[in-house]
Amino acid sequence: MIGKQDSQVLEADVVRLEHVRKTHGTAKHEVVALDDVTVGLRRGSFTAVMGPSGSGKSTFLQCAAGLDRPTSGSVHLDGRDLGALGERRLTRLRRERIGFVFQAFNLLPALTVTDNVTLPLRLAGRRADKDEVTAVLERVGLAERRHSRPGELSGGQQQRVAIARALIAKPAVIFGDEPTGALDTRTAHDVLTLLREAVAHSGQTIVMVTHDPEAAAHADRVLFLRDGRFVDTLERPRAAEIAARMTTLGNAQAGPAAGLAATANARAEASR
Ligand code: ADP
Ligand code: MG
Repeated sequence: MIGKQDSQVLEADVVRLEHVRKTHGTAKHEVVALDDVTVGLRRGSFTAVMGPSGSGKSTFLQCAAGLDRPTSGSVHLDGRDLGALGERRLTRLRRERIGFVFQAFNLLPALTVTDNVTLPLRLAGRRADKDEVTAVLERVGLAERRHSRPGELSGGQQQRVAIARALIAKPAVIFGDEPTGALDTRTAHDVLTLLREAVAHSGQTIVMVTHDPEAAAHADRVLFLRDGRFVDTLERPRAAEIAARMTTLGNAQAGPAAGLAATANARAEASR
């Protein structure tokens, strides 16, 4: 039975994973990528997910965004239980309610900026309102480049096109996998500021995987993964704090007991 407090938590969380376990490979050579992950992401929040290579960041994002299915446990997105949806409805949900921003901008080179931005809407059978397109292009500072093709733009500009493409459908969540990974520091800062503004001004929910403490410092909350578990959380941290925590995570020689205690704390905190 769901208590009053629980149902409020569920409503506030636009993404919620409960006891998610994800293994790869065969039973004999099983790799546990996510190990009993329970976490909620609040509507209108900006979350960064960090962790050493192989800690499960990409697997987390894939499961949370309905691109992959957990081995066990549940994922709720925008009030829907993804496990209860067949492939068709899951694809539709992804198209209509989720935005993606990848390290490789994934723009179509033959299409203009405008056509790249409106493509997801058109795929979903929706018409792109001209004023809306203009508004979103102005937001990312590319209104003047609407007729350009991706090849004529810088990396930062291309990523801003990708962000406009994610924003225009007003998705429940935007997922980013290393969205600034291919950008120089200054351009990355501009792109992150843009994401930050989408959270502050439009209440957009954003979840971003990054290995860059400077990038993660733009988030409200940083979740740290290690060996498939969330082991730590920082709220509104500065880059230096994040970098220090990453160093601890990477080098920690903690025994199993210490690891379990840290996990329990982080889980209690993360699922508030
Ligand atoms: P990260 O993004 O933090 O580097 P991943 O989520 O990509 O971590 O991977 C977590 C673990 O799962 C790693 O040990 C990785 O080798 C393993 N893994 C990921 N995808 C697969 C796959 N398709 N097949 C087998 N093992 C995988
Ligand atoms: Mg990865």
